[in-house]
Amino acid sequence: MNQFLSRRTFILIPTMSILKTFFKPMQVLASSLASKEEWNLSKEEWKSRLSPESYYILREEGTERAFSSELNNEKRKGVFHCAGCDLPLFLSDKKFDSGTGWPSFWDPIQGSVETKVDFKLIVPRTEYHCSRCGGHQGHVFNDGPLPTGKRYCNNGLALRFVLD
Ligand SMILES: [Zn+2]
Repeated sequence: MNQFLSRRTFILIPTMSILKTFFKPMQVLASSLASKEEWNLSKEEWKSRLSPESYYILREEGTERAFSSELNNEKRKGVFHCAGCDLPLFLSDKKFDSGTGWPSFWDPIQGSVETKVDFKLIVPRTEYHCSRCGGHQGHVFNDGPLPTGKRYCNNGLALRFVLD
């Protein structure tokens, strides 16, 4: 038997099993679970409720193209609701122009969103989703304006704007 190979295998196997144990709890779910039982819908039920684009974002944690959403420039007074279950998530007076091309907010309505860490781009990012239906909304960063310093970078297709 090739000595080099056997030594490499000897090192590789324990390393792999350590990595596996380490990464297992951090697996990213396709979407977050709903906190309310009545919003734990099947894939088919969600597909029938949503457009394919909104389904991709809300249920598969997709991201829309920057500057593609009309809501990016929405400056009227109103409330931004979850496009999945209609829960109010953000008030228009907490919206700001981040220049990123996605509707951005510095604070959500209390209790309306929940966060989890994802590793889709290798670097950990904080994902947030609707606290009722679990639908993915966007990611939150620490470079937002005061008073919170947070930037909730939201997909426009995951929101529905309701004028006051
Ligand atoms: Zn929702």
